[in-house]
Amino acid sequence: MSKLVLVVNSGSSSIKYQLLDPNAEAVVASGLVEQIGEVEGHIEHKYRGVKSEFQGPIPDHEAGLHLAYRMFADTGLALEDAGIAAIGHRIVHGGEVFYDPTLITPEVIAEIERLADLAPLHNPPNVIGIRVAQARFPDLPHVGVFDTGFFHTMSKAAVTYAIDTEVAEKYGVRRYGFHGTSHQYVSEQVAKVLDRPLADVNTIVLHLGNGASASAVRGGVAVETSMGLTPLEGLVMGTRPGDIDPGALLHLGRAAGMDVPQLDELLNQRSGLKGLSGGNDFRELTLKVAAGDERAKLAYDVYTHRLRKYVGAYLAVLGRVDAIAFTAGVGENAASIRADSLSGLEPLGIEIDIAANDQRSSEARIISTPGSRTKVLVVPTNEELAIAKAAWKFV
Ligand code: ADP
Repeated sequence: MSKLVLVVNSGSSSIKYQLLDPNAEAVVASGLVEQIGEVEGHIEHKYRGVKSEFQGPIPDHEAGLHLAYRMFADTGLALEDAGIAAIGHRIVHGGEVFYDPTLITPEVIAEIERLADLAPLHNPPNVIGIRVAQARFPDLPHVGVFDTGFFHTMSKAAVTYAIDTEVAEKYGVRRYGFHGTSHQYVSEQVAKVLDRPLADVNTIVLHLGNGASASAVRGGVAVETSMGLTPLEGLVMGTRPGDIDPGALLHLGRAAGMDVPQLDELLNQRSGLKGLSGGNDFRELTLKVAAGDERAKLAYDVYTHRLRKYVGAYLAVLGRVDAIAFTAGVGENAASIRADSLSGLEPLGIEIDIAANDQRSSEARIISTPGSRTKVLVVPTNEELAIAKAAWKFV
């Protein structure tokens, strides 16, 4: 019987894919397509623990997807015979239309394309991912899982920006939130690790990757999140600033004559850790800080200061917080960020155990002291598994 799900994340600048068994929670093969549209593209494919690579031009997403599929055949696993029962697609923006995992039909594709207004960098490549996979596997269920979906439970007060209502409604300007699949998965894992019913656990999730976002989750239900209309708002990120006075953009428009494409480029590519320190890779930043680089130190401090501010805000939003969970590349690996962003919060019942925090592991784990009222955890995220499980429900 077919028991595998192929998860496709055809993103703005890369394509990630995984072939996995959602019930056994086992990965069969996975890959990453990068440098799409550049002179030299790159694919790294893993099957049965063996790495294979492709180096060469990858003109666009469609070519990248075809090449990725070819990697399966070239490494000895013809996808048509692999026992795939469904395809799960990560879709960034579901707007006010899609909340739950949705079976993809031509009408659904048309709606995702319409929502590209709200996510011009993301929804179009997501749709290419769907079209290429559907052409290849026309008889399998294709399921869209939306990054915004988990946050549809937020209150009107939490999602409304205080601007002219008519303008806001006409152009769909409100908070949506992103990384929802990760925030949902991690908050569920927290309840498992604490061995408590999900409905009883209030959690602050800190998803710190290249993109970064925080959320407040009450009993498994999202009540707040830091990303907004777009994934620009909130925490400091690799190349994005997070919160900034909107007046600063008006000022740059007037004083520097920057137009919309220039501001877009500044905010999406030349801000965050990169804007502050010259690079967006957190490992390099840590090395520079250790070497006494002052720009890197400031970037690090701005990053942790912002995190601490959000933790404080979400403590107030939730009232009682049972857990704070760190996840994604930086959250799972950078012990210093976890320690520095929560230091001094002992009077609020948050106390990290230094030794537990420094311990490296790929397992979900508690890193607070036994006496800490709020438990602090590291929970490896697994969006692919969450998407595969969602897609499996349609088999
Ligand atoms: P995304 O999925 O948004 O591209 P990831 O969750 O993979 O991002 O996180 C990428 C970030 O994690 C990078 O800034 C990278 O430097 C950082 N990172 C990865 N491993 C480590 C590590 N061992 N220590 C510190 N930072 C790390």
